[in-house]
Amino acid sequence: MTFDPERARRDFPILAHKVHGKPLVFLDSAASAQKPECVIEAVSDVYRSCYANIERGVYELSLRATDAVEAARCKIADFLGAPESREVIFVRNATEAINLVARTYARQHVGEGDEILVTHMEHHANIVPWQMLCEETGARLRVAPIDDRGQLLLEEFAKLVTPRTKLVAVAHISNALGTINPVEEIVRIAREHGAPVLVDGAQAVPHQRVDVAGLGCDFYVFSGHKVFGPSGVGVLWGRAELLEAMPPFMGGGSMIRSVTFEKSTYQGIPHKFEAGTPDIAGIVGLGAAIDYVSGLGLDAIAAHERDLLIYATNALEAVPGLRLIGTAERKAAVISFVLEGAHPHDIGTILDLEGIAVRTGHHCAQPVMDRFGVPATARASFALYNSRADVDALVAGLEKVREVFA
Ligand code: PMP
Repeated sequence: MTFDPERARRDFPILAHKVHGKPLVFLDSAASAQKPECVIEAVSDVYRSCYANIERGVYELSLRATDAVEAARCKIADFLGAPESREVIFVRNATEAINLVARTYARQHVGEGDEILVTHMEHHANIVPWQMLCEETGARLRVAPIDDRGQLLLEEFAKLVTPRTKLVAVAHISNALGTINPVEEIVRIAREHGAPVLVDGAQAVPHQRVDVAGLGCDFYVFSGHKVFGPSGVGVLWGRAELLEAMPPFMGGGSMIRSVTFEKSTYQGIPHKFEAGTPDIAGIVGLGAAIDYVSGLGLDAIAAHERDLLIYATNALEAVPGLRLIGTAERKAAVISFVLEGAHPHDIGTILDLEGIAVRTGHHCAQPVMDRFGVPATARASFALYNSRADVDALVAGLEKVREVFA
């Protein structure tokens, strides 16, 4: 059965809305994806039927809420191909997951003269925590270069991995360029020098099948809100032996085994890293989102988005004065562009009047903007609910932009 985006679109109530009197064409899923009815229902169902604080209660509602959270943890472990569900840690978002690793694992293993290796295409969330760590420890941030299409220069990357490299942190897919990084190769090279690899999967999990065991990485992070789940919940997956050896991130309730004023002892994983009350309904909603994409099939979603990428790339390349930023051979359905004579923010505003939502700016990836010599781009990012009709609407909208700026 072929994938039917129009059918999928009907699962997302917000997409039936009009904006400025026009049907909504939502092309900003890389920033945050919309939510299907089943996720909205799952969240409200928690509040309606089984809400209570988790882990600590002995009464029925608390046990039900705890079971629902733990069921979501198992689903996510399966979804990621993780060997064990206790390797799945609930955090607020990808940013928090990266900071967690920077403040625990990296604090333990990184010292003066050591190096953290990232790529030139990282999101600020995968740059700034490492810079902060370097400032504290005297370690050095190294940056693997990319070519003019926005592809990692793997040979240059390999030269930068040395015995000083204590961690490699790379995006699975770049949010600004759409580049899909060769994570297996990256892991293989890093392994030769014993460097663990953190993969920022924020842009990957909604669009392609991810298998952390197959990738061979050590940490994998993502945000629930980009994979059609609620905002406020994200995931850190880590290898059990690494997580077990790491100190806690935040201290407080839920993460302790015992507390006295003299000394506290901690829970095992995953709870050691889950201090305080989490977003209970959000976690359950994320579980529903994972069920949703799994039901549609990640391979079918990826094939559909591949078709959209090709269709959209051809259509946009034909727009006079338009320059694509990021033309990697292995690319996800994220299209950044600039248009001669028009500032990206003006493009965004004019498209908005046509009901078309695109993101404009530096996309929290200023270094990659600098690499391409632009302060900002307009970015159309596609998801399972987009169709070729959305691309046609974008192209027609860009004609309007060109009329204004001609
Ligand atoms: N990494 C990448 C590649 C992203 O695209 C984003 C979100 N734009 C993040 C990290 C950070 O995600 P969040 O804001 O949900 O923490």
